Amino acid sequence: MPETLFSKIIQREIPADIIYEDELCLAFKDIAPQAPLHALLIPKQCIAKLSDSTAAEHSILGHLILKAPEIAAEQGYQDCFRVVINNGEQAGQTVFHLHLHILAGRALSWPPG
Ligand code: AMP
Repeated sequence: MPETLFSKIIQREIPADIIYEDELCLAFKDIAPQAPLHALLIPKQCIAKLSDSTAAEHSILGHLILKAPEIAAEQGYQDCFRVVINNGEQAGQTVFHLHLHILAGRALSWPPG
């Protein structure tokens, strides 16, 4: 697996506030939260960005999408949250290990900046 900041969190080489883990994925609080709940949900396998994924990642991508509302609900936000994936530098991606931002706990405007 290529080494990324997030793979170091998976390996416990960097500390993080981990809120969910299973054999396929890990969720932890964002270090610079943009909302009362701002978690990052990542696959344990490194997919650099969403557009790199193929049909081979069908199962893990489905797993992540289904886990996001479960994690939001566990954190107290069952019905109102936002899931964001930044894909590529121009879209704001800074860490090249696929991650879903889960944001909740304040009014979220649209469109995003
Ligand atoms: P993105 O800009 O979509 O690639 O999101 C990367 C996110 O990772 C940003 O929201 C950062 O605040 C967050 N981040 C960076 N380093 C850490 C870290 N060590 N622990 C938790 N979140 C981090």
